[in-house]
Amino acid sequence: MRFLVYFSLLILIIGCKHSQKKLLAMNTKVVIAHRGASGYLPEHTMEAKAMAYAMKPDYLEQDLVLSKDDVPIVIHDIYLDDVTDVAEKFPNRKRPDGRFYVIDFTFDELQQLNVTERFDPKTGKQFYPNRFPKGKGSFKLHSLQQEIELIQGLNKSTGNSIGIYPEIKDPAFHHTNGKDIAKITLNILTEYGYKTKNDKCIFQCFDAKELERVRKELNSDLFLVQLIEFPEEANHLDYYAKYADGISPWYKQILDKKENDTWQFTPLVENAHKLGLKVHPYTFRADQLDEFSSFEEMLQVFLFEADVDGCFTDFPDKAVEFLATK
Ligand code: CA
Repeated sequence: MRFLVYFSLLILIIGCKHSQKKLLAMNTKVVIAHRGASGYLPEHTMEAKAMAYAMKPDYLEQDLVLSKDDVPIVIHDIYLDDVTDVAEKFPNRKRPDGRFYVIDFTFDELQQLNVTERFDPKTGKQFYPNRFPKGKGSFKLHSLQQEIELIQGLNKSTGNSIGIYPEIKDPAFHHTNGKDIAKITLNILTEYGYKTKNDKCIFQCFDAKELERVRKELNSDLFLVQLIEFPEEANHLDYYAKYADGISPWYKQILDKKENDTWQFTPLVENAHKLGLKVHPYTFRADQLDEFSSFEEMLQVFLFEADVDGCFTDFPDKAVEFLATK
């Protein structure tokens, strides 16, 4: 009898250890909800963020542009005219180039706009035809603070611990307009408790000089990720490693060619890992598979064959589900 009890205990302990190991293994690859659950709802709306949150990714992404009165707005571009009805609401506020800029509007004015599924402002055509219908529903712009309060509130009410992944957009453009978006954003992050690499906040930027400034001049201890747009930028990994903790390249920079049905990769991931940099490529879309036959195949190739550490995706539910089977 006693033997049976010990035996059962042993099985229980081994079982726990095994599931712990499995849990740890699962947690090593992170899913980042790119602009929220943007495959299903207009990007960067609170609705897209709440839906993404419920899909339990590791991080929700925020792209940030300052308003005229220095409020960081969660929006992908410095322009307003491809995701809102600004051209109808404020027809006289465009610049000579014909575009409407976030930075020319106060937070109160921005609140009057309706947000819609992304479209081409010249033709009016929806960018991803099979996503949420353009012009339908009632969606608004919001600030970084409002989104942090949504996520931190949900972390409290659900007991989850989902992080944020803010990106400051075009800091050089902000400087030209007399604004320091890095400083303003870092102050807000500090205020909400995001100060170190342990605080589930990853700070990203395409502008290397500015991200270096965030580390060295603005003395941020956050986890910093250098976004990479062009292949030649991948040659500067040594420099990025001096201030950043990770890189985020376009996924095509990782693919080399397919030989005998097997993908060959560029040395980017391996070289980054040698320098201790995490690799979180963008952007995985179930409705834009390019050379892959399924979304699962795409995820398998990058996450397990190329061995990247995470992925930005418009479909966080699918990536979370995929990783749960691993
Ligand atoms: Ca982004």
